[in-house]
Formats: sequence, structure tokens, C-alpha cells
Amino acid sequence: MEKSKKAAEDTKYSNLIYNKANYYEKATEKEKKQIFEFAEGYKTFISECKTERECCMEAIAQAKSKGFQEFHFGDKLKSGDKRYFVNRDKGVILFKIGSLPLEEQGMRIVVAHIDAPRLDIKQIPVYESDGFCYLKTHYYGGIKKYQWVTIPLSLHGVVILKDGSKVNINIGDKEDDPVFYISDLLPHLGKNQMAGKATDIISGEQLNVIIGGLPVVDAEKDKVKINVLKMLYDKYKITEEDFISSELCVVPAARARDVGFDRALIGGYGHDDRSCSYPSMQAIFDVQNENTAMCILVDKEEIGSEGNTGIKCKVYEDLIDEICQALGANSRQVRGRSICLSADVTACYDPNFATVFEKRNAAIISCGACMNKFTGSGGKSGSSDASAETVAKVRSIFDANGVVWQAAELGKVDIGGGGTVAKFIAQLNIDTVDIGVPVISMHSPYELISKADLYSMYKAALAFLK
Ligand code: MN
Ligand code: MN
Repeated sequence: MEKSKKAAEDTKYSNLIYNKANYYEKATEKEKKQIFEFAEGYKTFISECKTERECCMEAIAQAKSKGFQEFHFGDKLKSGDKRYFVNRDKGVILFKIGSLPLEEQGMRIVVAHIDAPRLDIKQIPVYESDGFCYLKTHYYGGIKKYQWVTIPLSLHGVVILKDGSKVNINIGDKEDDPVFYISDLLPHLGKNQMAGKATDIISGEQLNVIIGGLPVVDAEKDKVKINVLKMLYDKYKITEEDFISSELCVVPAARARDVGFDRALIGGYGHDDRSCSYPSMQAIFDVQNENTAMCILVDKEEIGSEGNTGIKCKVYEDLIDEICQALGANSRQVRGRSICLSADVTACYDPNFATVFEKRNAAIISCGACMNKFTGSGGKSGSSDASAETVAKVRSIFDANGVVWQAAELGKVDIGGGGTVAKFIAQLNIDTVDIGVPVISMHSPYELISKADLYSMYKAALAFLK
């Protein structure tokens, strides 16, 4: 009697209370199946695409297979067109022209990044010491350096030879490939190291990658280095000087895997931000859109969105201008009426490190893609703080389409913070709000997400782009 009375009261007031729902609990059996199926394509994507170049190439290949054609500035456009624009092989913009008048409706834009924290190879990287051959690295993005030692590593990227020809490198991720390795100190001799600060346990200049140990017999010195250089020359025609015009990245060699007895979670490298870029890309492929829809996959977010492949580059504004011009619309008007989801991952509440979170305003695992009205740190500094109106608009789109989602912020006030591309899109006079998949162990070599949150991100992008 007591129990049923309490249940009735819960129902009576339930519409007053905001509660996050676990998507797995809420999903129908059919939807649960879709959640698990969607994760399979994603795992393949992040296991095989470990740099922005590889993600860009895969996105183009998938776009072509879905009937998208390349767009060049000056091309004509009409309603129903599906096009892609490539920025220097490191970013791609996919768009579909809708039937609604562009000037009145604006565009629906989702932007996500395809670069991820890693170790970049220096331009004069090869050296030998005491039987080993090494590559010097300079880390890319915000990493905990001590996490990148004693794990299998692979090497991805390009070397442009003197004659301009491009050599693609991808070694360490195939079953029978060798991998690469960074050493750490054995605990027996690690007493002083372990007493130091975590930032100093492994220094930047200690992130040296072992790439060989076999000496040639007919050289006087640097016998291991010469042997490695000889192998590189025989196979790729690369000399030591060619590294100057290379972009080579050291990334974890592991494939993405299901985590847990129940396989609810995915472990893998680069969930930040491929767990948003992959669903966004699938959403623009699948969407039956009335609005003009755009998905921007961009480089350089992890180092401040700089350069001509980062979101600060003028090419994105130029492209919007070109699309407007091709459709006879005023670009300034269109931007002012457009709305953008800045799709980037957020910190997931980690019970193992509960003290840095304010749980009421933290993203909870499996409760769906997480909307962050603002990011930034120390008094919202550096955030583009979306307006209540923009949040309301996006919220009503999600709710009308049955998207399971949640709202949160990054962590406790004054404990840290972060930011992403939202503020640069907002500068174009486009209403922008952050949304993304909650990630455990962000920026580590093997991050963790929920399959439910990944699928929620897809549903959110799909509803929004429509
Ligand atoms: Mn990110
Ligand atoms: Mn990041």
C-alpha cells in the first residue's frame, strides 16, 4: 500500500524533475540491437584510421560510395545535390543541399575534429645509441607523457621526397607488422623516478621511439642506424634528409575492442574526437534533409585549431560563401540564420576519480550524447557560451526526434577545463552549441566510451541535420 502510494506520487511530480536516463535501460530491444550494430562500423573506422589524413581519405571513400561528388569553388548547385570539399587531404566538408529556402532557414552544420593526441616525429629524428636506433618525437596535443611508454606503437603518415612524390607509411597495425616501442625504467632502479612529479616521470625528450637493433657489418659507426636507413631507402627511397619534409605520427598499435563481459563499452585510440566525427559523418550520409546540411571534419583541434587545416582557416567561411553564391543566397544572411553543433567529446564522470567532478553537472556514462552550454576554464574563460535560445532550439529538435541525451559541464569549477572549435564557428555569426560523447581516460592511448552514447551522438546529429 505504502509502496504504490509512493509510486503514484513519483508519477504525479515526475514532469517537474530533470532526470538523466540510461540509454541502455530506456532502449527497446530493436534499438539496443542498432546500438550494438552501429558500434561495429565505428570500431573498424577507428582501428584503421589513426590520423586526420587517414580519416579524411576514408570519409571521401565512403562519401563517393554514397553518391557524393567533389565540389570546387565556382561549381553550380541545386536542391538535392550531395557534395564534398577536401582541404589539403586533412579535412573534408560534406554537404547536402536541402529543399527549403537557404536564405530564410540558414544551414544546419555539425563540426567534429579528426586529429587526435599522439607523438609526431621530429624533422631530424634518427639516431643511434648503444645498440638501439631511435626516432625523436615531439608530442602533439595534451598528453600524460608517462602513458605512452611500454605499449606497442605504430607509425602512420607521409614523407614527401625531393622530387615531390609522396610515400605513405602505415606500419604496426597489421597482424604480422613489427611495432615500435618507448622504454620505461624498471621498478628496481626507479626509486628516484617514482619520487618525482608525474609530469617529470617521463620527459618530452625521453619519448624516443625504438625502431631497430640490427647492425650492418661493413660500416665503421652508427651501424644500426645505417641499417635502418638502408632498409628505408630500399623499400621507400627515403633518405635521412627526406624526414625534413615528412609528417609521421606515432600512435598506439592496438585495435578498438569491446570492453566488459556485456560488451557495453568500447576501448580504443582516438575516441576524441572520432566518436563524434564518425557518427556525424554517418548522419549526413543517412539524413533525409529539408534544410541544407553540412558536416565539417576538421584537423588541428588538439593544438588550438591553428593553420590552414584548423577551423580558424578562412576556407570554411569561403566554402559557405561559395555555396550561398551558387544558390543565389546572401551569405551573411545565411550565416546569421544557421545553427551549428560543435561535436566534440566531453569528460565522463569517473567514479574512480569522483573528486574532480560535480556530479549533478557531470556527463554520466550511457546517458547519451552530452550537451555543454559552455566550456572554458576558470570563470568560463575561453568559452563561447551558447545562448539559452540556441540551447532551447537544439533541445526541442532532440526531444521531438526521441534522442536520449544529457546536459553537463566538464568538471568542478576551477579544477581545470577545456575548449574546442565552437567559439571559432560562433565568430562567423553562427549560433553554436557543444555536444559530444562522454569519454573516460580522455587523451590516453586507449580511451573508453559507451556504445549507447556513440549511437546517441548519431541520432542527435541525424535529428539536427534534418
Ligand atoms: Mn576533442
Ligand atoms: Mn582533445
